[in-house]
Formats: sequence, structure tokens, C-alpha cells
Amino acid sequence: MRGPHVLLLGGTGEARDLARQLQRAGIAFESSLAGRVARPKLPVGEVRIGGFGGVDGLRTHLRHRGVTAVVDATHPFAEGMTRNAAAACAAEGVPLLRLARPGWSDAPGADGWHWVDDHDAAAQRAADLGERPFLTVGRQALDRFVGPLAESAVLARVVDPPEIALPDTWTLLLNRGPYVLEGELALIDEHRLDVVVTKDSGGTHTWPKLEAAAQRSIPVVVVRRSDPAPDVPTVTDPDAVLTWLRP
Ligand code: NAP
Repeated sequence: MRGPHVLLLGGTGEARDLARQLQRAGIAFESSLAGRVARPKLPVGEVRIGGFGGVDGLRTHLRHRGVTAVVDATHPFAEGMTRNAAAACAAEGVPLLRLARPGWSDAPGADGWHWVDDHDAAAQRAADLGERPFLTVGRQALDRFVGPLAESAVLARVVDPPEIALPDTWTLLLNRGPYVLEGELALIDEHRLDVVVTKDSGGTHTWPKLEAAAQRSIPVVVVRRSDPAPDVPTVTDPDAVLTWLRP
């Protein structure tokens, strides 16, 4: 009998870990990346790059490639891809599992942070709380902050240069990490940052900025995750994906 042929929606460290595990386990799979960053970290194994063309395009891909299971290991804030995967898999009758790292809502200090529902609210809250915000929300969200923070001395850290013009008062920092506490403390001190703005990305890779904010007693604004797709089972650990694929 043929084993599963998995489509692994990636763009995260967890997806790269899972690709290694699938390869070791001898499970046939193809990783998919959006192609957003200039120099993506590639997973092992077969990789396709670029959007599918919405739900219909993904449905066609599932049929043409004979995909028997989809693992959505995209970033917790890649909400469009997650929605499309749920719709396409439901329509094609292909089992779908969400692999998402836990958020930071239970992390030390999280109950003292300013939790907001979206980037617009984060921009407003940051403007209320400080004059020198540290923006770590990703390149694609920066446009939502430009209006409310037009006069602020923002330090915006992103992986690739944004496509929009930034206010003259802003400083752009291109970096993809990994980040360490000492470096984050030095940034806060050097730029006299007085509020940190982030998404609830979760994980350890970008955690040091939150530790640094706590050490310098500066406020943190966090954009909440949206509700997960209700009918899609979710796991937080790549090991659990193998169990799901081979019950
Ligand atoms: P998004 O807004 O949810 O997706 C927008 C469109 O991009 C999707 O409809 C799809 O295009 C395409 N796309 C997204 N992920 C894809 C994938 N893995 N393979 C093929 N096409 C994909 O996504 P996003 O927030 O721009 O994130 C893009 C990628 O960057 C994701 O793979 C995500 O894991 C990674 N990433 C995102 C963030 C973040 O903060 N959002 C952070 C780190 C990494 P079509 O409709 O044409 O299929």
C-alpha cells in the first residue's frame, strides 16, 4: 500500500524541523514556501515556492500532486494561508493538521503586557505609551503603524526592506536574528526605546526582546492571535505530527 504524500505548508523553524523528521521517517512530502523573503532558509527535501492562487489553486495542487494529508506549519500570523488550507482541504476531503507553536499568553510577565486585537490598536497603544517604540511586527504590518507613529522615533526591525516609504523620524534595522538578551538590551539602551511592540508569535527565537523589556521596565504591546479554524486539529510539537500521520 502507498504511504501518505504530505504537503507541508512552511516558512517557520517548526516546519523545517518537521521536514527533517518526515525525511528520516521515509514519509513522502513536499514543502511549500510563500516566497516572501529574499533568502529563505530552505527545508530539506522537495520544495516549491510561491502562492497557489487562492483556495481554487490549492485545490488543484492537492489533486494534481495526489496529496493525502496537509500539515499547516505556517507562522501563527499567516492567517490567509491557514484559512485557505482549511477551505481547500475541506472541499477536497484531504485531512489537515495545524502545527503551531504555543503563544506567549502564559509566559512570565504576560499578564502585565498590553494585549490588543490587531495592528491598528497596537499602533494607537504604542503612541499612547511611548515616544521611542521598538517595532518588531514584521515588514508587512508596518503600514498600519506609519500614521499613528509618524512623529515617533521608531526603531523598526525587519528581515527584508519594506516596500513602503517610512517617516524620516524612523530608523530601519535589517536583521533576521537569532537574537540574544545582551543584544536586545544594548538596542534598547542605544536607541532609548521606551515601548516594545510585537505579535504573539510565540517560541524562543524572538523571546529575548521581551526579557529585555522586563529588565528595563518598559511596556510591551502584543497583538493577539486570531481564533484558530474551529474544525482543524492543532498540535504544538512536530513529534505529534508523525503520530497523526501514522496513527
Ligand atoms: P498569509 O498572509 O497568510 O498568506 C497570503 C498568501 O501568501 C496566501 O494566500 C498564499 O497565496 C501565500 N502563502 C502564504 N504562505 C504560503 C506557503 N507556505 N506556501 C505557499 N503560499 C503561501 O501569509 P504571510 O503572513 O504573508 O506569510 C507568508 C509566509 O511567511 C508563510 O509561509 C509564513 O509561514 C511565513 N512567515 C510569516 C510571518 C508572519 O508574521 N506573518 C512570520 C514568519 C514567517 P495564494 O493565495 O496565492 O496561495
